[in-house]
Amino acid sequence: KSGFVAIIGRPNVGKSTLMNHLIGQKIAITSKKPQTTRNKIQTVYTCEDGQIIFLDTPGIHKAKNKLGEYMVNVAEQTLKDVDVILWLVEPTTYIGAGEKHIAEQLQKTSLPVILVINKVDTVKKEEILQVIDNYRKLYDFAEIIPASALRGQNTKDIVDSLFQYM
Ligand code: GDP
Ligand code: MG
Repeated sequence: KSGFVAIIGRPNVGKSTLMNHLIGQKIAITSKKPQTTRNKIQTVYTCEDGQIIFLDTPGIHKAKNKLGEYMVNVAEQTLKDVDVILWLVEPTTYIGAGEKHIAEQLQKTSLPVILVINKVDTVKKEEILQVIDNYRKLYDFAEIIPASALRGQNTKDIVDSLFQYM
C-alpha cells in the first residue's frame, strides 16, 4: 500500500515532532516558535506495510498578513493532493474558533480525517476522554487517536490507521 498524508493543525501542536518521530530522522524543522514550517516538506515513511508520503503543512488558519496568506494557500493546495488528512490538536477540552475554522475547511473535502489528540503525556486520562467527546461533536472523524508524538505513544496506531485509508 502507499498514499499521501497531509498533517494539519494549528502551529505548535506537534506536527513536525510527529513526522520526525515516524520518519526517525530530523527532516522537518521543529521549534517552540509557532510557524517554523513555512512550506510543505515531503518525507517518505517505508515499512513492511508499504509507504506513506507525508506532507507537513503550515497551519490552516485565518491569514493576518501576506506570509500568512501564502502559508494558508500552501496548506489548501496540499489538501488537494492527499488520500488522508491527519489533524493534530492540543489535549484541551475547549474547542476554539481556530479549530472550528479548520473543521469548516475540512467539510469541503470528502477525504477521511484522522484526529490525533497529541501531547496526552501532559494531561490526565479523564480529561483525554472529555477532549475526545468534544471533538466527536465537532466533526465526523474517521478515527480519533490520543497520542504523544514526543514519547512515541500510540504513534504505531496512527500509522496502522493511515494504511487503512489507502
Ligand atoms: P508544529 O508547529 O505543529 O510542527 O509543532 P512542533 O512539532 O514544532 O512542536 C511544538 C512544541 O511542542 C515543541 O516544543 C515540541 O517538543 C512539543 N511537543 C510536540 N509533541 C509533544 C508531545 O506529544 N508531548 C509534549 N509534552 N510536547 C510535545
Ligand atoms: Mg512544524
